[in-house]
Amino acid sequence: MEYVELFIDSFLGVSNWTFRQIVFSVPISENYFWGLILISLIVWILELVFPWRKNQKIFRQGFWLDILYMFFNFFVFSIIIAGFYEVFNKILFKSFIIRPDSLALIKLDVFSPFLQLIIFFVILDFFQWLTHILMHHIPFLWKFHKVHHSVKEMGFAAHFRYHWMENIFYKPLKVFAIMLIGGFEPEQAYVIHFFTITIGHLNHSNLKFNYGPLKYIFNNPILHLHHHAYSVPNKFKKGVNFAISLSVWDYIFKTNYVPNSDGETKLGYQGDHSMSEGFFGQLLYGFKKGD
Ligand SMILES: [Zn+2]
Repeated sequence: MEYVELFIDSFLGVSNWTFRQIVFSVPISENYFWGLILISLIVWILELVFPWRKNQKIFRQGFWLDILYMFFNFFVFSIIIAGFYEVFNKILFKSFIIRPDSLALIKLDVFSPFLQLIIFFVILDFFQWLTHILMHHIPFLWKFHKVHHSVKEMGFAAHFRYHWMENIFYKPLKVFAIMLIGGFEPEQAYVIHFFTITIGHLNHSNLKFNYGPLKYIFNNPILHLHHHAYSVPNKFKKGVNFAISLSVWDYIFKTNYVPNSDGETKLGYQGDHSMSEGFFGQLLYGFKKGD
């Protein structure tokens, strides 16, 4: 009964919080709904004014599908899954007497707020990079990750075209990363949240830049375009450029590969013609034999 109550409370809590964002009852700094729309509009306008692939249409292939994904993965799915996560957390941290800080390697509270944010960001990004590599190397995970790689023309919203199961696959290492830093998110985590959305949007955008020498630190559209390449050399057959926000992991572990920056690389994966083109077909993709 306790778990059912917890489930319903979380579901209603996140629904209510999302609604309050939409009607501007949440401060703008924590308003992820309007923040996402604002960042999307800015990156989209930049794409229209300074396009990398000049012949790409304003409403490129998959544009509306990706806009739908953006709101689904960010808000609708969060509402649906909130209850499951709360119940899972309760079981993990209460029943098995694991405390959120039992694995703490670093005590974040001894650092200044700025350093706390940086450490939080770097550790989380590393574990997301690792999860992304697993998505490419483990066939069961790759089936679902194919949805993200079915993008044939890149634009900012392609960032959020991914199978809802990915939200779940990314969770364990994210929880582990947060436990390493003591089990809590720094107070200003929303800064990192908006920063990572902006970097992610830019990585998928039709803009040509790579931050100059900072390309070895930050993921960028040129690096990430080749992550989506249809074909790569044999020694990289499981993929290249797995960076999420930081490219530094790819350079350290030698998974970086940028053969050119002409922007005309063919995108997708071998066999992508069998991917469903519609949203609902993709929601169910990965569960059938042969996917
Ligand atoms: Zn990938």
